[in-house]
Amino acid sequence: MSSRKAWGLVAILGVVALVFGGILLSLDRDAAEPSLVQYNAQYIDAGAMLRLTETLSSDALEGRATGSRGNEAARDFIQKRFETLGLRQFGDTYFQPFTATPVVQGGAPVSGVNVVGWIAGQTPGDGPAMVITAHYDHLGIVDGEIYNGADDNASGVAALVAVAQYFTLHRPRHDMIFAVVDAEEIGHLGSNAFVASPPVPLERIALNINYDMVSRSDAGEIYVAGTFHTPELKPIVETVATEAPVRVLVGHDDPALGEADDWTLLSDHEPFHEAGIPFLYFGVENHPAYHQPTDDYTDITPDFFARAGDTLVMAAIAADDALEAIEVMRRAD
Ligand SMILES: [Zn+2]
Repeated sequence: MSSRKAWGLVAILGVVALVFGGILLSLDRDAAEPSLVQYNAQYIDAGAMLRLTETLSSDALEGRATGSRGNEAARDFIQKRFETLGLRQFGDTYFQPFTATPVVQGGAPVSGVNVVGWIAGQTPGDGPAMVITAHYDHLGIVDGEIYNGADDNASGVAALVAVAQYFTLHRPRHDMIFAVVDAEEIGHLGSNAFVASPPVPLERIALNINYDMVSRSDAGEIYVAGTFHTPELKPIVETVATEAPVRVLVGHDDPALGEADDWTLLSDHEPFHEAGIPFLYFGVENHPAYHQPTDDYTDITPDFFARAGDTLVMAAIAADDALEAIEVMRRAD
């Protein structure tokens, strides 16, 4: 997730990137098999999801700040996964480059790149489509410390890839678009660029599902936000909650909660929401490592993460099944 505090760090990132520009990347391609997952995942490849999380949050990627070499390396990993899964491209590339100005005082324009692929649904033509998002950028190196962003949001990216893998093997009813977006931490710039220049007409996008911080919960709980704004989604979420292998809590989307606890505007679902598109945001409660250099792979909760991964597939299946109804309610609003 992003915060005003994080945006304040952005000004020095450019200088830091130059200072550390000489450090060679030595990527760990042979991460250890995770041993802490007792849960037997039903829908996802938990081992692959954990290994991708570990790779994206390794020191070699230097915190994945937008415009940095670590960010570019992360993007290449994601692109290769999309290729391996056989996700379709819009045009002849997975990349959607953009230039935008960070939401920070005096912020200079930055160049970012979204990674976008899709799976054709069983329903042909120009019917409703779903967009699943997760941001891959994080805070980079600040005061010599690497902000690895394992939970925020290497976890969401790895979960998105795991969900995409499921649907390559079990074709969805409707077109499913997977957008791994850049520059979230400096103002949701990648998701803004996606909504401003979508690869399909915006009218076709019936729902956004966003993953941001889905791997770390000692309590075994994940929140889903969005039903306050689209109450018609509540029965779908409640059905998933009764069957999910984690505790699914509905909330964090009521403006009455105040700025800190209403997450409506705090991650990449925000531009979709502003465009009138219903969203479901999945994420864990803020933890002490949130936006700290201690957001490391070694401190995520792997068993919970595997359960959360299955839950995200279950939610995507339920949303895909209900997408016509969701589109109808969008048009009615
Ligand atoms: Zn985040």
